[in-house]
Amino acid sequence: MKNLYFASARSEDFSYQTSMVAKLENMLRKTDLSKYIDKDDYVAVKTHFGSEGGHRIVRPIFLRKVVEAIKAVGGKPFVTDTVRIEGLDYLETANIEGINHLSVGCPVVLADGVFGKNYLKVKAGKILGEISIASGIYDADAMIVVTHCKGHIQAGYGGAIKNLAMGAIPGHTREGNSERGRIHSIETQLEWDEEKCELCGDCVEICDHDALSMTDKIEIDHFKCHKCRRCVEVCENEALTLPITEDEFQMAMAEAAKAALNTFKPNKVVFINFIMEVMPHCDCHPHSDVPVINDQGILMGDDIVAIDMASLDLIEKSAPLPDSKAEKLDPKKGLLKELTGRDPYVHVLHAEKLGMGKSKYKILRID
Ligand code: SF4
Ligand code: SF4
Repeated sequence: MKNLYFASARSEDFSYQTSMVAKLENMLRKTDLSKYIDKDDYVAVKTHFGSEGGHRIVRPIFLRKVVEAIKAVGGKPFVTDTVRIEGLDYLETANIEGINHLSVGCPVVLADGVFGKNYLKVKAGKILGEISIASGIYDADAMIVVTHCKGHIQAGYGGAIKNLAMGAIPGHTREGNSERGRIHSIETQLEWDEEKCELCGDCVEICDHDALSMTDKIEIDHFKCHKCRRCVEVCENEALTLPITEDEFQMAMAEAAKAALNTFKPNKVVFINFIMEVMPHCDCHPHSDVPVINDQGILMGDDIVAIDMASLDLIEKSAPLPDSKAEKLDPKKGLLKELTGRDPYVHVLHAEKLGMGKSKYKILRID
């Protein structure tokens, strides 16, 4: 049974102490980062920089508190993510979202370098064989994984495991293959149906990776494609399909996250999950829908399985919000499963099977 600190999102009086910011400071004190971070350790604060048009990522004010707590125990923090769109454009996305050196109080860098090509190959599991890990993660001495929890169109849920599975690896290998594409769909590729396509161009416009082009037909660059399914979702004619094996994708995700964690010595990684502004989809999308449940709060602990399981349970126990995508869903059938069509527990339980942590947890409320 793993202990997890939990701070509720409720703030019932006018004092600073009931703010989420103060509660996060309190949790960081109770967690005692000196148990995980030695003096002069380089500490990656792994978060998601978001997407232009999306705005529900973890806000800079929270990242700053994490950075201050790392500095207080003698660590050298840097806030980081891996290249998702072109490197400098992605840093500018972070800047637009308010994440920069001035706001968070430490360097904001791309873990896989400006061009997304700084990485090392490591062993992964049975499905992936091996995977590339961004050098900024690989070489860091310690890591705080700061995650905005939400739905995900392929995994049902995007939490800490997904943050590492997709975010600790580079977009592409030097040979041009999409590493994220390999996790998203091991054996299948995006397919285009000429009969159904009316050449509206919506898919080309929504692709962040320049993998689609349109002349008198849609051409797919399979090397560039991350298999993120944005184009599949946007096509109203169902002219694009990407067959997936749900379980295999989720298991591959757990393998990739494990490979990233294996680059750290034991007891060097802490996880902070924000179960706030839980949207139906992930932060890569160029828009943010309204939350499907009320804000729940923040969880913190050193077990990636326990924290994702607890986050999922909090989401699943919550009532769907009116006027949201979940409004008419029956939560008894599983909120995220109903929303996304995927069972979100598959990858979390597979992570437990891989020995990454324990799904049983105990909540220690700090407010
Ligand atoms: S969004 Fe669909 S219909 Fe429009 S161009 Fe793309 S494949 Fe064709
Ligand atoms: S799945 Fe579609 S939107 Fe995503 S990278 Fe591939 S072509 Fe682009």
